Amino acid sequence: MARTIVDIKEKTETAEERGFNFWTDKMPCWEVSHCTNMVKSECPAFKYPFLPCWEIEGTYCKLDDYGADGKDTSICEMCRVYKTYGGGRPIQLKLMGRGINASLKSLEEIVKS
Ligand code: SF4
Repeated sequence: MARTIVDIKEKTETAEERGFNFWTDKMPCWEVSHCTNMVKSECPAFKYPFLPCWEIEGTYCKLDDYGADGKDTSICEMCRVYKTYGGGRPIQLKLMGRGINASLKSLEEIVKS
């Protein structure tokens, strides 16, 4: 398990360093979903385009008004973005702690201190 996490971390860092963009020649999820500039400025799918949105914890669409932590990818399995570009591969989160939920927690901590 630890080895898998290290492997994923190394692969994502390498892809990010190389400037890889998953969305090249594809319609990005924020265009499919008509996300506002405000959502794009916070959503990790827009900030970290080297991974497909379904592999990123805490994207805008993984959250809800009832305290979802952004790790549940069941919404992605029904989404046309994943169905179009996911190739039927099982979903595995590869980027954690960068989501909108994490930004909000940081803000809460700053306000409390
Ligand atoms: S529901 Fe999932 S696959 Fe669809 S746009 Fe959001 S993060 Fe991407």
